[in-house]
Amino acid sequence: MRYTLECIECGTCHNLGERAYVCEKCGGLLEIKLSDMVDLDISDWSARPLGVWRYRELLPIEAGANIISLGEGGTGLHECRRLASVLGLKRLHVKNEGENPTGSFKDRGMTVGVTKALRLGAGSVMCASTGNTSASLAAYSARAGLRCFVMIPAGKIAAGKLAQAVVYGAQIIEIDGNFDDAMRLVVDAARRDGSPYLLNSVNPFRIEGQKTVTFEINDQLRRLPRVIVLPVGNAGNITAVWKGLLELRALGLANELPRLIGIQAEIASPIANAFKQGLDHIEPAAKPETIATAIRIGSPVNWKRALAAARDSGGLIETVADTEILQAQKMLASQEGIFVEPASASTIAGVRKLVDEDLIDPDEETVCITTGNGLKDQEAVAFSTERTTKAKPTRESVMAVLAQSCSI
Ligand SMILES: *Cc1c(COP(=O)(O)O)cnc(C)c1O
Ligand SMILES: [Zn+2]
Repeated sequence: MRYTLECIECGTCHNLGERAYVCEKCGGLLEIKLSDMVDLDISDWSARPLGVWRYRELLPIEAGANIISLGEGGTGLHECRRLASVLGLKRLHVKNEGENPTGSFKDRGMTVGVTKALRLGAGSVMCASTGNTSASLAAYSARAGLRCFVMIPAGKIAAGKLAQAVVYGAQIIEIDGNFDDAMRLVVDAARRDGSPYLLNSVNPFRIEGQKTVTFEINDQLRRLPRVIVLPVGNAGNITAVWKGLLELRALGLANELPRLIGIQAEIASPIANAFKQGLDHIEPAAKPETIATAIRIGSPVNWKRALAAARDSGGLIETVADTEILQAQKMLASQEGIFVEPASASTIAGVRKLVDEDLIDPDEETVCITTGNGLKDQEAVAFSTERTTKAKPTRESVMAVLAQSCSI
């Protein structure tokens, strides 16, 4: 297997053994390309546990590398019959990425990215974050013995995610600005010599780890679904999912690929707007706002590849309102026992909307990728209306409450 690191704009090749995030010629994003796919021996895959490193032949890490792992990937693919019938679909599965070690899909990218950081001899790593990236990087860098800096928008990340970064021992830099400001600042800092290795989704090694979710879906379902739905913030994940699908096809493991449907929040939806208007650029959202903090991003760095993924797969990018997200979160939890954070619930809200608009056919087998665990963002649930029932600590009082709800 040969890997090259190529600019997505001008095709210039870069050295894989050096730190590079953007093209030195034109500033475009870099992508890892695999060649010799047809000769690849993947006969070992089925003997290995389900997870990111099952697919190591497709990951750009040399044999014998010290792999920094916490057991990422191998998340459940749950068939949701009750929810499917509520939404009007024949078959719906949820690929629950909240089951990862730090509770989000970011761990798939970090196991590869932090492993690469060590290979590059970095002593420290950094990221800007809406919460989950910092939680994940903080954990994997701790595991690797690297120093970690995370930059977050002050007051704008869920308490559970901040607690993770704190306990894993990252140095947390809060800025008085939004995620887009933080991103700009870390990308700028990463240009200087001696700065920490940058692990946002401009980093091509993270995308490589994240693409494994599609290999797992294919292995768990023993086929690919017709539609894959996922939330879109900075758009690294939809980029990764599409790359994974193209590689499955190049390997001869898939013929027809699913349609990719990306979901954005209404007031943070530059990619959905560009898609709907048929534009080849995005107009950043100056004041992105949504309860789904993980996708509260106005100027997504991977917008171009996200548009391409939606268009090339015959999919689309749609928006949903916060009220729809909260209803969907409640629905998934109460109908199927799966508690996801608001950004992840946007996929269920999106399916509901698109089935109603005839943009998803009831016969199309659908997989929603729920990206993060609901326990991270308990504030969001405070908006739910039904709460608790009070009772006195007596048998009579308890029996009275039960009698009201059941027939005892
Ligand atoms: C990071 C994140 C997203 C957005 O992913 P992108 O790659 O930025 O599009 C969605 N949901 C959750 C829970 C996340 O942590
Ligand atoms: Zn270039």
